[in-house]
Amino acid sequence: MMRTDTQSEEKELNHLVRCYNCQREAKKQVKTFYATRPGEKYRGNLEVKKETPRQNNYGHIYWVTECFTGKYVMKFGNFCSVKCGLIWANNEIERRRMNKNTNGSGNAIKQEDKDQLMKLRNQIAMNGRARYAKQEKV
Ligand SMILES: [Zn+2]
Repeated sequence: MMRTDTQSEEKELNHLVRCYNCQREAKKQVKTFYATRPGEKYRGNLEVKKETPRQNNYGHIYWVTECFTGKYVMKFGNFCSVKCGLIWANNEIERRRMNKNTNGSGNAIKQEDKDQLMKLRNQIAMNGRARYAKQEKV
C-alpha cells in the first residue's frame, strides 16, 4: 500500500520539536524582507536575525532584512533529513518484525480499535446521562 507523501513535506510548527531520529532541533523559520526604497529599514515586530545592505547601480543602499517569525520548520515532516527518515523507517520495520516473531503482534491494540473503543465508551456515557436525565423529569 502506498502512503500519502503529505506528511513528508516541510512542516511549519508553532513550537520547537526535534527530529524523530537524530533529535536535532527544528530550525527557526526565517522570513526575508526587501526594502522598496533606498535607506528604508525593516520596522516590523519580528525579531531581526540579520540586516544586509545591498547597493544598486546608482549607489543607493537597499536593506535586506532576515527576521525570525517565531515559528519553526522541520524540512521533511518529522525528520530533519531524508536520511533520518530512512534510518528511522528501516529500524521501525525491523522492530516490528522482531515483535511479531517474539510475542505475536496480536496482543497490541491498534490505534483504530482504540479510537473505536473510545467512541463506544463516550456513547455509553452519554446514553447513561440521557436516561438519567429522563428519569429525573418523570
Ligand atoms: Zn535528523
